[in-house]
Amino acid sequence: MKKSGLDPDPRITRRDFVNGLSVVAGAALLSRAAPGFAQAERALRPSMDAGWYGYGGVGDYKESHGNTPESVADAHRIRDGEFDALLGPPVAGEEYDLVIVGCGMAGLGAALEYMKRRKTGQTCLMLDNHPVFGGEAKENEFRVDGTTLFGPQGANGFFVPARVDDYRSASGDARYYAELGIPRELPYQSLDNAARALNFCHDNYGYLVRGLQDRISTGHFFSGEEQDEGQWAVDMWRKELRNTPLPEDRRKALMGWYECGATRSFESDDAAKRYLDQMSYKEFLERVLEIGSEGSAYADLFLASAAGLGSDATSAYAAYLLPMPGLNDAPGTHLKRHSFPGGNSGYARYFVKGVMPEAIGGERSFDDIITGKINFDVLDRERHPLRMRLSSTVVAVRHDREYESADHVELVYMRAGEARAVRTKAVVMATGGWINKHVVLDLPHDYRNAYDKFVHAPFLVANVALTNWRFMEKLGITAAIWEKSDDDFGYTCNLRRPMLVGRHRPPLDPNRPAVLSFYTPFHQPGLPIGAQVSKGRSELMSTSYADFERKIIRQMYKLFGAAGFDAKKDIAGIILNRWGHAYSVPYPGFYGGATGVGPRDVIRRRYGRIAFAHSELDGLQHWGPAADEGRRAVNQIMAVL
Ligand SMILES: Cc1cc2nc3c(=O)[nH]c(=O)nc-3n(C[C@H](O)[C@H](O)[C@H](O)COP(=O)(O)OP(=O)(O)OC[C@H]3O[C@@H](n4cnc5c(N)ncnc54)[C@H](O)[C@@H]3O)c2cc1C
Repeated sequence: MKKSGLDPDPRITRRDFVNGLSVVAGAALLSRAAPGFAQAERALRPSMDAGWYGYGGVGDYKESHGNTPESVADAHRIRDGEFDALLGPPVAGEEYDLVIVGCGMAGLGAALEYMKRRKTGQTCLMLDNHPVFGGEAKENEFRVDGTTLFGPQGANGFFVPARVDDYRSASGDARYYAELGIPRELPYQSLDNAARALNFCHDNYGYLVRGLQDRISTGHFFSGEEQDEGQWAVDMWRKELRNTPLPEDRRKALMGWYECGATRSFESDDAAKRYLDQMSYKEFLERVLEIGSEGSAYADLFLASAAGLGSDATSAYAAYLLPMPGLNDAPGTHLKRHSFPGGNSGYARYFVKGVMPEAIGGERSFDDIITGKINFDVLDRERHPLRMRLSSTVVAVRHDREYESADHVELVYMRAGEARAVRTKAVVMATGGWINKHVVLDLPHDYRNAYDKFVHAPFLVANVALTNWRFMEKLGITAAIWEKSDDDFGYTCNLRRPMLVGRHRPPLDPNRPAVLSFYTPFHQPGLPIGAQVSKGRSELMSTSYADFERKIIRQMYKLFGAAGFDAKKDIAGIILNRWGHAYSVPYPGFYGGATGVGPRDVIRRRYGRIAFAHSELDGLQHWGPAADEGRRAVNQIMAVL
């Protein structure tokens, strides 16, 4: 392969920094980390300077991409107990019946239920520490050569659920499709001006999934000895790996895993859980099925992309649910993944439109909900039963006396550097355990112990806006997977087939702009689970924007240089979406192992006037179950309101 050197001064993005703060040595809160890394991570404090957050694109989300520097800084101060003293003797401030902390899918699910169940006169305040609602379901927007492009910041893909006639009889995705009228027929752009047929993934996951990957033009890149040398294997599974440089024995072992269907049947889901949650997926493959380590190593990519860490750290029960080879047959060819232009921001916007119709401009139509402007001015209006206040970090929460007899909860949040107090009759913490255990000051011991057992993994979504993608067309691919060597960036990237939404009709043409998304986990197979997440988070948080930008461009030259990639001409902008605690890892035992009762079962109980809701309680984070957690928490709270 031809060598192509790194451009020393790519023409991208630094021209447009939005928010110059940065965390140079940051590493966020930690749970259950191995001692060495845990201490190192705890010792780190954010040091703010320009160059960490980077370019944010255009549009409503440009100042809210991934964790903001402010939210990371506040999280460190919360962890270190700097705000605890703010909750002293009775505080004066606003009064509400309910406060929902967190405006991600769980908080929005709570709001939807509250608006149905509230009694006349009851009021609710929602607080979130980011400038836009949606949590991990937000979007990036670029404008390239006059074309508007969207990409997901995190959550991005879905199957359309089965139809239900009465939403009240359903839970999860199906319930909200029916309740909010989310469309099931979704049109996509067709390919123009390509010299060859190409198959696209509709989201940013399908091309990693056994069975689904076979229907996408996926290239696997195998590095050579020298930088920029390597070999592509396109559609390698359909070719039974014959086009790869892998030796015969490795090919055989990998194919054995890939083609392995369900090897166990279980009487019930509970039986599957109690048996499989006692081991990792790696142990299941290597010890129970005795099929060697090739499959579990390849599975790392999919598992870490879907659940935070690889096969050595993921419960075999989670792998069974996902579904992985050895535990399930390959998915049927009728299954289709989808992704709204901004990924699951589409769902967040449906919920917001449902509870506050004026918050998103236009009608209650698919087009307007997905692409309408956010009316930030109406989110927090006086005398409205539901108010949403953004850029507000909740730092302390406590019942006004012993929780068994309390009739109020006191809460303090920081907004624009100022502490503000709220007195409320109840609180739903629709936030993750890594924050709740520091913020909720009268948390009972068993809850605290349960939260200490959660493990949160970091994740980076880098969206690269391209002026064209001829270099991928030349290779005959729309998705790339590579064996990561030491200096590499990431593991995978792909171009989605864009969904058509009203007037938003982005092109699908190799000569025109598109977004190339790098979904990047930080798993470190072989290390203890706690060490893996601490080390990964340190890397995610301590790398500057410029360094990630350099790594991404270098990786693109390595993959695509020989096919004509030129950073100066081909890249229009890069947005980094850093998620310090992206996923709760469903490690072996998360679901309770042989007992079937895990730490999440403790957290799901209301105590006093506080209830907890977050997708982490489900083990495999997903938007519908996240909203269900919020709904459950509000129903628990309604019992005391
Ligand atoms: C990279 C990635 C890809 C994913 N892909 C998919 C997918 O394809 N499909 C899918 O269904 N799901 C996906 N998910 C899972 C996603 O996490 C869930 O679907 C869901 O969006 C999570 O909602 P949540 O409300 O539980 O949490 P979050 O989205 O984390 O929302 C919690 C909110 O609370 C805020 N908050 C935290 N602390 C405070 C505080 N002290 N004060 C105020 N606010 C606070 C947070 O900033 C956040 O806005 C993905 C996640 C990631 C990270």
